[in-house]
Amino acid sequence: MSDDTLLDRALIRLEEAASHLNIDQDVIEKLKYPRETTKTRLLIRMDDGSRKSFLAWRCRYDDTRGPTKGGIRFHPDSTIEEVETLAFWMTFKCAVMNLPFGGGKGAVRVDPRQLSKSELERLSRAYVQAFARTVGPDRDIPAPDVYTNAMVMGWMADEYSQIVGDVSPAVITGKPIALGGSLGRNDATARGGFYLVRHLARELGLARDHTVAIQGFGNAGQFYARLSAADNNTIVAVSDSSGAIHRPAGLDVARLIAGKEAGRAVPDMAAEQGAHVIPADELLAVEADLLVPAALEDMIDKTNAGSIKAKVILELANGPLTPDADTILNANGVTVLPDILANAGGVTVSYFEWVQNRQGFYWDLEEIHARLLKIVECEGRAIWDVACERGVSVRSAAYIHALGRLATAIEAHGTQSFFSS
Ligand code: GLU
Repeated sequence: MSDDTLLDRALIRLEEAASHLNIDQDVIEKLKYPRETTKTRLLIRMDDGSRKSFLAWRCRYDDTRGPTKGGIRFHPDSTIEEVETLAFWMTFKCAVMNLPFGGGKGAVRVDPRQLSKSELERLSRAYVQAFARTVGPDRDIPAPDVYTNAMVMGWMADEYSQIVGDVSPAVITGKPIALGGSLGRNDATARGGFYLVRHLARELGLARDHTVAIQGFGNAGQFYARLSAADNNTIVAVSDSSGAIHRPAGLDVARLIAGKEAGRAVPDMAAEQGAHVIPADELLAVEADLLVPAALEDMIDKTNAGSIKAKVILELANGPLTPDADTILNANGVTVLPDILANAGGVTVSYFEWVQNRQGFYWDLEEIHARLLKIVECEGRAIWDVACERGVSVRSAAYIHALGRLATAIEAHGTQSFFSS
C-alpha cells in the first residue's frame, strides 16, 4: 500500500468527478477538508471498579446541504483519518440520494466485544456527554455503524434528552422502535442495495436467479443474504472475521443467521451447512455472479482484485475497494455499484426516521419500503444514465451526480460564506 492516507485516496474520486464538470475551484477547495473534527477521551468506570479511557471523535465534514448525518462506530482500529474519510463519504452519499443532510461520522476506539453490557451503556452515554454540543436534531444526527446498534442508539437518545431536558428523538436515528425508531431501519442498508440490484439486473447482466458471495456477515451482510435468497438467488459463500465458507449448491441462510445470533462464527457452521471452510481471501475468487463486500474499508486492493470472478460488485460496506482495485476491476469488465449509492438505503431510512420524529406521525412498513424503492430506483437510474452517457464507471457517475448537487448548494450559499477575503 502507498503512503497515501485513506482520505487522500477518497479525494481522488472528488478530483476525478470535478474533471467532468465545470465547477468553481472554490467548491473543490471547500470539499477537500472537514469543517470540524472534535477529539476527546471518554473515561469509563469498568465493572471491576477500575477506570479506562477510550479515544473518541466526531467529524462534521460538510453541512452545506443540511445538518451533518452519519453513524458512530465502535472499533479497536478506528482513527481520526478513518472518521474523516467516512464523513466525506457520508457527504456524497446524502447528496447522491438528495437527502437534506450533509456528512458526518463518529467513532470510539474500543473493542465492544470486550465490554459488558453495562460498560457499553456507560461508554455510549459518555460519548453523548462529550459531544452534546456537537450533535443536535438541526446540527448533527448520529446513527448506527460498525458494532453499534439500536440498543446503543437508545441509550444515546436517552442521555441526550436528559442533558437538554426535552424529549428529542430526532437527534439520533436507528433507535429502538419503542423510542421513536422507524420501521424498516434495521434492514434498510441491505434493502437499498437489494432494490438497486433488482432494478438494474438486466443492464448488469444478472439473471433473476443469480449466485452471490458475501464478505462480512454483520447487519448488512445478513439482511442482504436473507433478501436475496428470498428472491430466488443462491448464496454460495459468506465470511466473517473468523473465516469463510463455500457451498456451490447454496447455503441455508436462515440457519446461518440463527447461528450468528447465538454467537457462533461462520466457519464453525461449515459442517452443518455441508460447506467447505476456505481462506478468507478465497471468498473473492469463488464462482459467483455477484460479490457483496459488507465488511470494512480497503478489503479489496491490488493484491486480490484480479482474482474476482463476479461480474458485478455491490459495495454494502463503506470504501471496501481501493482505487487500485477499481482500476483492475474496470479493466476486467467488472461493474462496481459504489458504496455511496449501494449502501445508501440505511441513511435514507434514517432520514425517514428523522422526518417521522419531527412530525410526530409514524408511517407503516409498506410506506417506508415504497418510499425507499422510489428513491433508490430514481437515483440509481439517473446515475446509471450518467455512466452510460459519459462512458465512465458507475462510481464516477455517482460522484458526478452528487458533486453537481453539492456545487449548486455551495454556490447558492455564496462562496463568501465559506472563505474570508
Ligand atoms: N452508518 C450508516 C452509513 O454509513 C448509516 C448512517 C445513517 O443512517 O446516518 O451509511
